Amino acid sequence: MDETAQPLEIDIEAWTPRAAEALYHVPAWGAGFFHVNEAGHVAVRPLGPEGPSIDLLEVIERLRAQHVHPPVLLRFQDLLRTRVQQLNRAFRRAIAETGYANTYRGVYPIKVNQLREVVEEILEAGAPFSFGLECGSKSELLATLPYLDRDDMLLICNGCKDRAMMQLILAGQRLGKKVIPVIERMAEFRLLLEALEDRSLPQAGVPAIFGVRLRLSATGAGLWSESGGETSKFGLSLSELLGLLDRIGDGHSGVSLQLLHFHMGSQIAHLAHIREAVTEAARIYARLRKRGLGITYLDIGGGLGVTYEAGNPDAPGSIDYSLGEYAHTVVATVQQVCEAEGVPPPVLISESGRALTAYHSVFVTEVLDTRSRHYELPAWANGGIHPLLEELRRLYDAAASEPLSATYEQLEAVRQQVNRSFREGALSLEQKAEAEQLYWATCARLCERLPRSSEALETLPENLRQLPTRLADHYLCNFSVFRSLIDHWAIGQHFPIMPIHRLDEPPTRHGILIDLTCDSDGQVSDFVTPVGEKHTLELHPLRPDEPYYLGFFLMGAYQDIMGDQHNLFGRVTEAHVYLDEDEPGNFYIELILPGATVEKELAQVQYYPNDLERRMNRLIQEKVRTGALRPREGVELLELYRRVFRTSTYLEH
Ligand SMILES: *Cc1c(COP(=O)(O)O)cnc(C)c1O
Repeated sequence: MDETAQPLEIDIEAWTPRAAEALYHVPAWGAGFFHVNEAGHVAVRPLGPEGPSIDLLEVIERLRAQHVHPPVLLRFQDLLRTRVQQLNRAFRRAIAETGYANTYRGVYPIKVNQLREVVEEILEAGAPFSFGLECGSKSELLATLPYLDRDDMLLICNGCKDRAMMQLILAGQRLGKKVIPVIERMAEFRLLLEALEDRSLPQAGVPAIFGVRLRLSATGAGLWSESGGETSKFGLSLSELLGLLDRIGDGHSGVSLQLLHFHMGSQIAHLAHIREAVTEAARIYARLRKRGLGITYLDIGGGLGVTYEAGNPDAPGSIDYSLGEYAHTVVATVQQVCEAEGVPPPVLISESGRALTAYHSVFVTEVLDTRSRHYELPAWANGGIHPLLEELRRLYDAAASEPLSATYEQLEAVRQQVNRSFREGALSLEQKAEAEQLYWATCARLCERLPRSSEALETLPENLRQLPTRLADHYLCNFSVFRSLIDHWAIGQHFPIMPIHRLDEPPTRHGILIDLTCDSDGQVSDFVTPVGEKHTLELHPLRPDEPYYLGFFLMGAYQDIMGDQHNLFGRVTEAHVYLDEDEPGNFYIELILPGATVEKELAQVQYYPNDLERRMNRLIQEKVRTGALRPREGVELLELYRRVFRTSTYLEH
């Protein structure tokens, strides 16, 4: 370990687990579910801040005793239940406080996390609230329909539909279930009418119910805002809606518009935007009611945000409202519009996915190795005197006090000359090595003098600002960004990441995280921060023969479902952790879903063991025939090849 790199400004004497919580901004993103315990480990309280606590390192150690090693995805099923209760209670409270004369019926959009155990847990926790489901595709419809145990549960069907999907939706209605197709495009309305002509559907005399998705003028802001608003890819414009209503009026009495829906996109940052959209939709609802339409439901879609950032109000991962404020604003806004218009208020539906699932899973991986730059000065004149090396030494001295930008510019210019001279054969290997070390040592000096404030940083050239990232240690982690942290790569979302143990010790290194893929994008160099940007993470130096684990938090929404197969890294092993105060450590582990094997990942791209083994064996037999390989060696070689099919796609111990 090279200890000369970038010391952190941390008061080692005053270091406590509380200091670690503050350093990694746990209170800002933890929502009362996460904290650092006295042992210096991250712990989760699945029932919220007053409830019992589970130590993450203990969970990992128990898994290791069962021969399950990180990377592993931990699901805290009780936390999922808590979120379902918190959401429903927030709406109940808002309804009681405002005297709203109707109810709330939430649905869970399964695209956020379709894992059966997640859906079943949400439904079980939601049963007292008649919580329902939302599907956005044919596969999701097939998965959700059989879960409508009670007739009062809603199944909202968004997304593009074909004839088979529409017929199945109507069949669900025939079964007495509240399966509501939401018309996204005019062509879908025609599909609905066609499906109705199939005489077996639905019950004679009972009109088929449907909803429409509105294309509102109000939009959100941030990374996900494209899915709302006038230019969104979904929804009917107001004139299309009026045209559709005219068609119903023209004698299509077999259908009944029961639901108005809108979806502003995910992670809406500002409550003001939500209020604006809800007001617009409520106004449309009220005006249609006044025209005599018996619309029952107003569905405000998803968008309820989660704070991933450390209270940074300008970051896309931040929101400016709480769950309670969200529910209150929605209920009060609809109430006001309905009162002003003199119409009865609708049943309110929301489709919160992210807010229900984000917290419940934690991804844990192990650091395999670290790499630091060497910043020590080389022994002087190692490679003999050369004018370029002398110039570099002068710049090294200048870096302590001379103007930052000018010194850095000269440094880069000399480095280019060094590289050119080397290519031309004018520098020895030793001289080139010495020049590189001088270059990095000078960079480290300049880096220490970089201003703290983001305003002052803005004025510096890009390369100079990037110095902390370029100088950071590389922590090689056993995971794939593309599989486990897809939104970090795809849309630049920041997730809370921190060591799950050794937090009673101050972290003394600055690092960036490198994954196993051969892709230069397979790294994490953006971290949550309350101000500006943060390109390195505070980490501990590795200790020999001791694992070092990092936790990635708020992983439950979208990440594990959307991850892809870059370099054929597969799904990671999952463990489902249940709270039980009678068990040691307050928990037991019920289910371990094994991660993908090499064999399974290969099958996804059409390679199968039989065929590959036959090919491998042919190569071996050729060498056996020529005598280059003894037959016994050949058998062993093939066996070695075979064994790897059944291993994890990640690195094993
Ligand atoms: C994705 C989606 C949701 C879920 O949004 P969250 O922001 O995760 O709550 C809800 N409704 C629709 C129509 C969606 O497409």
